[in-house]
Amino acid sequence: MSLVQSLLSTERYGIKCPYQMEPEGVCIHNTANDASAKNEIAYMKSNDNQVSFHIAVDDKEAIQAIPFNRNAWHAGDGGRGTGNRRYIAVEICYSKSVGERFVQAEQRAAREVAAILKGYGWGVERVKAHRDFSAKNCPHRTDMDKFKTMVQEELNKLNGASNPVNTSAGNLYRVRLSWSDAGSQKGAFSDLNNAKKCADDNAGYKVFDKNGQQVYPEQISNNIIGEGAKVRVVGNKYATGQDVPGWVKNETYTVQQVSGNKALLKEIVSWVYINDLALVSASAAPKVTIEVGSKVKVTGSNYATGQAIPGWVKNNTYTVMQLSDNKALLKEIMSWVYIKDLILM
Ligand SMILES: [Zn+2]
Repeated sequence: MSLVQSLLSTERYGIKCPYQMEPEGVCIHNTANDASAKNEIAYMKSNDNQVSFHIAVDDKEAIQAIPFNRNAWHAGDGGRGTGNRRYIAVEICYSKSVGERFVQAEQRAAREVAAILKGYGWGVERVKAHRDFSAKNCPHRTDMDKFKTMVQEELNKLNGASNPVNTSAGNLYRVRLSWSDAGSQKGAFSDLNNAKKCADDNAGYKVFDKNGQQVYPEQISNNIIGEGAKVRVVGNKYATGQDVPGWVKNETYTVQQVSGNKALLKEIVSWVYINDLALVSASAAPKVTIEVGSKVKVTGSNYATGQAIPGWVKNNTYTVMQLSDNKALLKEIMSWVYIKDLILM
């Protein structure tokens, strides 16, 4: 920000800022007079009182007199007080007569304080009032709650300019067992590849985009769970977020309508995420038979051996090499999979 430096001579450190400081926050004051920031700073630097502050702000400028790694005598909490030894002191000018220039000074101070917070990586909770450290009615004009809100708004602007946190947070890829089971979440990633890796490392986990659409493993069920399909509910939540009762999971339902990643089940008149459905029969599709030589995709969670099927396996198409009872041997991965867990391509 436009912080003007008018630093105190080091010869005056003994009176005004004798100690090194690791700042912990910012302490807000009102000057209770009608002097400009320039005059306020000049007076502080020239007198021999053990009274000092780091910054004075008026409607035109913010001026720094003491480096932030030196203490200042401003908080009235003694030689070892937290305010005097750990806080950056900011004086807001023109608080005696107030009016428009005081309003402007407060606004400018909010910007300067936000810049300090940003510089140290602090939140607005680091902003304190003089009266938080000692029994003085200071700042006598500035409403601290309102001022902190102003600082937060300025901080949001600064963060928004360099790091659009809010935007990217909305675009995270989440790794869960199912979209409705938020409690199962293993992680949230802005990079899809990292999310896929997390899903691969955790058997049964899938990657969902911000809308709850499964993006990995590549979703096959969307194509086959269509209107008229017979399904069972395997997830724990309805699309509304309500729990699915146990008895519901024992029945087979008819998909009446599909909308995005959700399906309306006719018999219970309830919307369920498609990811939380298991296909019993795709009645709309022609009856197909898996035979040796068929090209298939894998939809199940486990191999016939019981081992978990990694996510990447589900993205590829395989050739059935051999059939045995209810199992098929897939040539490319030389693995036995239950036929019910295969779909014909
Ligand atoms: Zn004060």
